Amino acid sequence: MRVRNKPWAGDFIKAHPEIIIPNPEEYKGNWQKLFGNDHPLHIEVGSGKGQFITGMALQNPDINYLGIELFDSVIVKAAEKVIAAGTPENVRLLLINGADLEKYFTKNDVDRLYLNFSDPWPKSRHAKRRLTHESFLKIYESILVDEGEIHFKTDNRGLFEYSLVSVSHYGMLLNKVSLDLHVEMPEDNVMTEYEEKFSAKGQPIYRLEAQYQL
Ligand code: SAM
Repeated sequence: MRVRNKPWAGDFIKAHPEIIIPNPEEYKGNWQKLFGNDHPLHIEVGSGKGQFITGMALQNPDINYLGIELFDSVIVKAAEKVIAAGTPENVRLLLINGADLEKYFTKNDVDRLYLNFSDPWPKSRHAKRRLTHESFLKIYESILVDEGEIHFKTDNRGLFEYSLVSVSHYGMLLNKVSLDLHVEMPEDNVMTEYEEKFSAKGQPIYRLEAQYQL
């Protein structure tokens, strides 16, 4: 994603601590405290401009959602979406790096993890940066419940092929694989910004659901 510098982003983030949580490490092991209930917690790593996480929160009021994003100039767009949706109680945002999830979450904190249109990092020397690389799968396993799931969508065939192999080598169970999600178009599919863009161009959307094994 092209990231434009937004000098006002820092001020916007400080002005909205109710949406972009300022000290997420305080909730490690106790995310129920943030949401005021013990509903399941689903997180999206690389939530971009927030259409998916906001849409999921509106669709599923009994699930808590955290959108995790690396860049301040992008997370402010997501915060604006959350505000435009009426600031649902069950969605909040974290300005953190997905590589650092273990600083903020402990085993069993997270019930499901979403990856949507993650940066493909096509050069093999950059494979370790892909969010479905073995090192990330290990981090996700350490914060998910036993037999937790990763749901992954992408337009990028190379990244999808790589991810199928990566989750299989890791010993995960593939519960669902779609090579053209929009042909079946599940009723509850919530589109991301990238999904809208690529599907409008007629590109197939690939999707998988992979589950950790005991
Ligand atoms: N998921 C959104 C969508 O489908 O429209 C955005 C996709 S965009 C290609 C990938 C997003 O992941 C960017 O906003 C990027 O800043 C974020 N990202 C990449 N690496 C990340 C990391 N290690 N931790 C958190 N966010 C990351």
